[in-house]
Amino acid sequence: MVEVKNLTKFYGSIKAVDDISFTVETGEVLGFLGPNGAGKSTTMNMITGYLSSTSGTVTIDGCEILDDPIHAKSKIGYLPEIPPLYIDMTVKKYLEFMFDLKKVKLPKKEHIDEVMRLTKITEQADRIIKHLSKGYRQRVGLAQALLGNPPVIILDEPTVGLDPKQIIEIRKLIRNLGKKHTVIFSSHVLSEVCDRIVVISKGKIVADAKTDELSAQVSGGQKLSLTAEGSSADITEAIKKIPAVKRVTKTGSNADGSGKYMIEYETSSDIRRDVYNAMVRVGAVILDMQSGNETLEDMFLKLTSGKYDSRKEDM
Ligand code: ADP
Ligand code: MG
Repeated sequence: MVEVKNLTKFYGSIKAVDDISFTVETGEVLGFLGPNGAGKSTTMNMITGYLSSTSGTVTIDGCEILDDPIHAKSKIGYLPEIPPLYIDMTVKKYLEFMFDLKKVKLPKKEHIDEVMRLTKITEQADRIIKHLSKGYRQRVGLAQALLGNPPVIILDEPTVGLDPKQIIEIRKLIRNLGKKHTVIFSSHVLSEVCDRIVVISKGKIVADAKTDELSAQVSGGQKLSLTAEGSSADITEAIKKIPAVKRVTKTGSNADGSGKYMIEYETSSDIRRDVYNAMVRVGAVILDMQSGNETLEDMFLKLTSGKYDSRKEDM
C-alpha cells in the first residue's frame, strides 16, 4: 500500500504540489492524470524518494520513505520521465548493470531473462540501446523498473512520445503488471486504462475515484441540444410528453427569435424522431439538433479548468 499524506513541494516560491493526499491499495492500478505542469513528475519524484518534500509524508507498506529510504526504495520500481538508460550498452548488459546497482538478491540470469520476457525484449537482448526505437527503449526502462520484483511500480508518462501501436503495447504491459504489483502511472492523456483515477491540476487533486464509478457518473444520462423556432411553452410541453425525456430546459434565445433547449433523456433511447414529430405537432421548426454525451474527457476538461494540453492520443 502507498500512502501519500499532505504532500507539498515548493520550488523557490513556486508551489508545484499543494497539499495532496491519496492512498493506493495493494494490487491497484492508479492513473495519475493531469495536464503538463500539473505536478505529476514532482509528486512521483517525492513518492520514490528522489526529491524531498517541503512537507508531508509518503509511506510504502508502512515504511516512511524519508525515515528509511533504502528499505522503502527497495519496494519501488521507478521509471522516471526520462529513463536512466546507458545508451551505449546492450539491453542485457544494462540490465545486469542495474541488477548489481540495485543489489538485487535473486538468481541473476533467470531474473533478467524473466524481466526481459515480461517486457517482451528478449529478442533485443544483444542490441545496443541507442539503436532501439523509442517504444523498445521505454520497455527497457520498464524492465529496469521491474528488477528485484518490487511490489510497487511507478511509471512517469510511460506512453509519452510513442506511436499508437506502441501505446497499446505499453498499456497491455501495464495492465499485466497490475496482476502482481501495485502500479501508479502518470499521463497527460485522459483516456488511460486503470482501476482508479486521481486527477491533478495546478498542484491540487481535483478528482479521485474508481474508474467505473466515474464512467457511470458521466454516462448516467444523455443530452440533446435543440434549437427550434416556435412558442417556448408549446415546445417545452411537447418534449416533456416524450416518455424517455427526464428534463427539458430552455437555455437561451437567439436573435432570430428561436430558442435553445437542453433535453436530458434516458440512455438507452434515441429520441430524435420523437422530438421531430413533437415539433411538427406544435408547428415548431427545428433549426438544429445535436446529441452531446458528456464523456470522461469532457469531465476532465472541466476539472482541469480548460487548461488542458490539446495534444490528444485517441487510443
Ligand atoms: P508535470 O509532470 O505534471 O508536467 P511537474 O511536476 O514537472 O509537472 O511540474 C510542476 C510545476 O513545477 C511546473 O510549474 C514546473 O514548471 C515546476 N517545476 C518542475 N520542476 C522544477 C524545478 N526543478 N525547478 C523549478 N520549477 C520546477
Ligand atoms: Mg512530468
